[in-house]
Amino acid sequence: MKIPYVDLGKEYESIKEEILDSIESVLSKGGFILGEEVQKFENAISREVGTKFAVGVNSGTDALILTLRACGIGKGDEVITVANSFIATVAAIEMVQATPVLVDVLENQNINYELIEENITRKTKAIIPVHLGGRPAQMDKINEIADKYNLVVIEDCSQAIKAKFMSKNVGTFGLAGCFSLHPLKNLGAYGDAGVIVTSDKKLYEELILLRNHGLKNRNECDLWGYNSRLDEIQAAILNVKLKYLEKWTQHRRENARYYIDNLKELPIVLPVESEDEYAVYHAFVIQTSYRDELQEHLLDKGIDAKVHYPIPIHQQDAAHKRFKSQSLPITEKQTSQILSLPVNPTLDKIHLDLIIAEIKKFINCKLEVVK
Ligand SMILES: *Cc1c(COP(=O)(O)O)cnc(C)c1O
Repeated sequence: MKIPYVDLGKEYESIKEEILDSIESVLSKGGFILGEEVQKFENAISREVGTKFAVGVNSGTDALILTLRACGIGKGDEVITVANSFIATVAAIEMVQATPVLVDVLENQNINYELIEENITRKTKAIIPVHLGGRPAQMDKINEIADKYNLVVIEDCSQAIKAKFMSKNVGTFGLAGCFSLHPLKNLGAYGDAGVIVTSDKKLYEELILLRNHGLKNRNECDLWGYNSRLDEIQAAILNVKLKYLEKWTQHRRENARYYIDNLKELPIVLPVESEDEYAVYHAFVIQTSYRDELQEHLLDKGIDAKVHYPIPIHQQDAAHKRFKSQSLPITEKQTSQILSLPVNPTLDKIHLDLIIAEIKKFINCKLEVVK
């Protein structure tokens, strides 16, 4: 039996007719840019997350770039974030010509809020916490610091749609929440897509301009902007998939619970939720010093476990100049120990049982050797 990390084909099979109908409906109406499907999706997602507004854009990366731009963040400004995210979090800061400042993380892979304050300078303008793998960052502490220093908080919610911290949805803590709707995310289009949520009217109005060339109507341009619109076909697909998101999220959480119940006796670090946390398990990340061997063992058995991410951002060639001498000990240690097990909602118990059995076999064998 082969167990892929994700199986988007299988997911599609389960909703095929509705998806094809939704695409057909857009094609027969003949409107492809900024129409009623996008409007419908923006209304639905802001209701889902609990903000007043939502702005559909081209990608999660653009969601971050446009939000930074709309907040007036640019050259000479510093933005605090983490090095263990997908590269786009830091790339977005670089793309607006601001300076990323990278902070180490906690055992749960999210920003270590205790290290934020010492990294704040007179140039600091914003913090971008990333809810990595679908686990919410410590938003109470982060907002407290942001309030004290008058900083903007922009949440990178790309991996965490529907995750909650202290019973409140991620995306509602900061000035804005940025979501990627890339096919591989928990709510994914069939191409690139993203959305920004906010309850700030001024920010919303600025984002509406920025995503569409700064045009306030067909002919008049208020400011220089981008071509970064969510298109109607992707929005129609997202409107179908959004109906299933709660069910799929529950399935991810059940898979995670099953892993935890069955692996908790082993000497590996498991992603167990804290009391304040409601995780959506975009990734189910275990940590073990035998990571490379375990990954290889699983691959041998046809199980595709992945590393998110194998090179932390401060060690990427693109970042070399800026972060050459920076050391982030926890981030670096985790980079060599993290392994994401398949956890997506197309998996059945048989798949999970097989993965669990192989992990147990491998780890117990290691323990024998150590004895
Ligand atoms: C996927 C992702 C992004 C970028 O999203 P795109 O839609 O691929 O541009 C940004 N941040 C994080 C944490 C992500 O996982």
